[in-house]
Amino acid sequence: MLSTMQDIPLTVSRILRHGSTIHGSSQVITWTGDGAPHRRSFAEVGARAGRLAHALRDELGVRGDQRIATLMWNNAVHLEAYLAVPAMGAVLHTLNLRLPADQLTFIVNHAADRVILVDGSLLPLLAPLLPALDSVDHVVVSGPGDRSVLDGCRPRVHDHEELIAGRPAAYPWPELDEREAAALCYTSGTTGDPKGVAYSHRSIYLHSMQANSGESFATTPHDITLPVVPMFHVNAWGLPHAAFLSGTSLLMPDRFLQPAPLAEMIESERPTVAAAVPTIWQGLLEELASGGRDVSSLRAVVIGGSACPPALMRDFEEIHGVRVLHAWGMTETSPIGSIAHPPAGLTAEEEWPYRLTQGRFLSSVEARLAGPGGDVLPWDGKSTGELEVRGPWIAGAYYGGADGEPFRPEDKFSPDGWLRTGDVGTISPDGYLTLTDRAKDVIKSGGEWISSVELENALMAHPDVAEAAVVAVPDERWGERPLASVVLREGASADLAGLKSFLAERVARWQLPERWSLIEAVPKTSVGKFDKKVLRRRYADGELE
Ligand code: ADP
Repeated sequence: MLSTMQDIPLTVSRILRHGSTIHGSSQVITWTGDGAPHRRSFAEVGARAGRLAHALRDELGVRGDQRIATLMWNNAVHLEAYLAVPAMGAVLHTLNLRLPADQLTFIVNHAADRVILVDGSLLPLLAPLLPALDSVDHVVVSGPGDRSVLDGCRPRVHDHEELIAGRPAAYPWPELDEREAAALCYTSGTTGDPKGVAYSHRSIYLHSMQANSGESFATTPHDITLPVVPMFHVNAWGLPHAAFLSGTSLLMPDRFLQPAPLAEMIESERPTVAAAVPTIWQGLLEELASGGRDVSSLRAVVIGGSACPPALMRDFEEIHGVRVLHAWGMTETSPIGSIAHPPAGLTAEEEWPYRLTQGRFLSSVEARLAGPGGDVLPWDGKSTGELEVRGPWIAGAYYGGADGEPFRPEDKFSPDGWLRTGDVGTISPDGYLTLTDRAKDVIKSGGEWISSVELENALMAHPDVAEAAVVAVPDERWGERPLASVVLREGASADLAGLKSFLAERVARWQLPERWSLIEAVPKTSVGKFDKKVLRRRYADGELE
């Protein structure tokens, strides 16, 4: 028997309509760096999204599911594109501005983007790529920047404000199939070419609802969220869409992602929730130690994207009274998979072991652990395997390009359709996930596995250590052994021998690295994570001990 309920598609146009009417007075505050942040209400964002859709359709001839790319920081204009493009039926393709030029070119061509919306400040990045971007007919520039770098380029160049000026705010948003693609995001291509994940209207809608729920961030119109995580990295973890559903105001950092402006904007605009990868928060902590800025408005700092070092969590809480929420996810999971809320009834100290894990799976995410032969392992907190997940906002395939079929590489999808995450860990009987490593980062030493993350966390607990990254290097006797690369804090007095004995007290002797290097900074990927590939290469080139 079929239900008797209405079948209303869950679409981005509904998110847009809801946010810009019911929550019309909520704010998008964009940091400008000049002491006068730019403020726009959700009602204005909605109206401008309507104008943009008119301009894209009537002036640029955008039709159907054509791809509209953005090369933009987190700001109000980007948010307008986030809503307008999918709501009109086209597909928003967020370009990661930190990707190397060849990968950016690859993904624009693969997605066959017709239009690129770009921040003026990023034109020097875009201009040299344009000759190789065959599908791009239009470039739409917003904000300040030297536009002469586009002189003579093939695509037509438009000024964003001129393009949308005078057009109607109301747009007849089409009724779409909720399973259609709304947004396209490519993985950062740590191995091979980047792969495209095409989020559906439905997946974005459901993910937004759960991001706002008590299971996740419990955000309401009384909150202000600061997504430091870029809007080109898994839709800023879904926070902009979620905010438009819940009426949570947004503080957008634009290009001011350095610790000093972040501390300043938190003190002056008083966000209640903020989200970023650990390296951003590490930098902010150091800034706060010297600057004395007030960050007490924050009720939750969401940390994910890489394992959060326990020392970082403790410092935030004990020094600044800010609670850290550790979360796990990936591009393929929209991204929220699990969040480390502790169970009820514990003291603050008893909560810590739970809060340091990657957390419990959200109610729409199913998880299992696969053993080496593909067998499903028990949730006993001990059996270690590869995490596999499935759910309504988990990718079931990658985008095959304009003429290609979606594809499902065997190492990424199980025969029965679960996403293979490449993350290795355990799950406790009450559903807490503890990741010990990424499958490709784990150190396989003499038949035993050493967790690089465990060694890094132990090292980063040393007061003189700012950052530590551990990678596997080839070893004749053991197959692989750990190499520790350490960045000391300014003015620190520790030496490698001291660090080694510090670590020896905290990990098993056979796990202790023999190879150590002091480095100036850990290389980072395009989304700010430790880039272990580069460290392994440097070792192979003889640059590291
Ligand atoms: P990339 O693969 O380029 O790093 P993603 O942003 O999709 O791009 O990264 C997802 C990966 O990040 C996960 O598979 C996992 O390895 C890692 N990750 C994300 N959150 C956490 C976390 N809380 N703890 C440990 N690793 C994490």
